[in-house]
Amino acid sequence: MQFNVALLLQEPVGSIRAEDLLDEPVAVPAEDYVASATGRVNLLRTQHGILVRSNMLVHPSLQCGRCLTDFELTLPLRIDEEFIPLRDFVTGDPVEADLDQFRIDERNELDLSEAIRQYEQAALPIQPICREDCAGLCPVCGQNLNERVCDCTPPKAEGAWASLAGLAERLQTEESHGSP
Ligand SMILES: [Zn+2]
Ligand SMILES: [Zn+2]
Repeated sequence: MQFNVALLLQEPVGSIRAEDLLDEPVAVPAEDYVASATGRVNLLRTQHGILVRSNMLVHPSLQCGRCLTDFELTLPLRIDEEFIPLRDFVTGDPVEADLDQFRIDERNELDLSEAIRQYEQAALPIQPICREDCAGLCPVCGQNLNERVCDCTPPKAEGAWASLAGLAERLQTEESHGSP
């Protein structure tokens, strides 16, 4: 996702440009990352470059930690990053910046893709679940209990109780396996 900021770089500090995104494609080929983003991007001319402020939604594909099904998560990202030009717009001299600083390339293209990838990675849940009440897999036969209740599930354990009971069982088995 690139924005040409040649014009904005010529404007006085404090100038703003806003862009609306609607399912805008995002790609970082080197990281094998593709996504699409919906939201708003504000570009603000600062003394040293362009400050990007954005609220957007991305929809990463994840695997549920309970039932192992793939699902799409709606993830809000709030991006706040200053991009520094590789070269001074007026003199053409190289501009020094920290290694982890986002840069505007020599063609005045500000590429937001890598920032989106990094913000998404930081915002991903550690153990994603497809829905709050996901029943998970039967610890005995592996049946996805969202689709069908299997015979080995105790008849009275349902919903949240089933996954709690399953968890307790798993913990017990792990403990007994763990002890010498
Ligand atoms: Zn699930
Ligand atoms: Zn089962």
